[in-house]
Amino acid sequence: MNGIYLLLGSNIEDRMRALNTAVSKLQASGMQLIDHSAVYETAPWGILDQNWFLNVGLKVETSLSSHDLLLACQKVETQMGRERKLKWGPRIIDIDILYYGNQIIDSGSLKVPHPGIPDRKFTLILLNDLAPDETHPALGLTQSQLLEHCEDQSEYLPTKYQLDIDLA
Ligand code: AMP
Repeated sequence: MNGIYLLLGSNIEDRMRALNTAVSKLQASGMQLIDHSAVYETAPWGILDQNWFLNVGLKVETSLSSHDLLLACQKVETQMGRERKLKWGPRIIDIDILYYGNQIIDSGSLKVPHPGIPDRKFTLILLNDLAPDETHPALGLTQSQLLEHCEDQSEYLPTKYQLDIDLA
């Protein structure tokens, strides 16, 4: 993979506003936004009895190390009132690091590439928008190949929502 990719998701309150707020807070904490996917509405994963999510994928540049990037993402989640009550439960904002270039990290607090990538269609759709031909550094498949092989049947819908930000 060439670049750093993040996944943002929100499924409570004003979901689009939450995505926009998260992007500006990430920019303010040392990330330049290089590109973003379309915004998709996606069925919940894990716990099905909750609102659908809005998801967007970001490509960013930063001088932060992978660990400091995780801390910066978690700080934004906390600032926005994210409560960690329930794994896979409702959340105002969730920020995952999908790829940090070609690095493979398994440090306990951080796993990169994100282990959920090959199993989650909602993640692969965003990555396929952003970098269809870039290769997963451990699996050796491109994002479009991973999407083709993904057996996740969860529903997703493209939306007309637009992020309210300018690219670097
Ligand atoms: P979540 O509930 O999805 O926000 O998961 C948060 C937990 O996942 C935190 O304890 C992180 O340390 C851990 N984690 C491991 N790998 C990643 C990753 N690639 N991106 C975000 N969080 C991660």
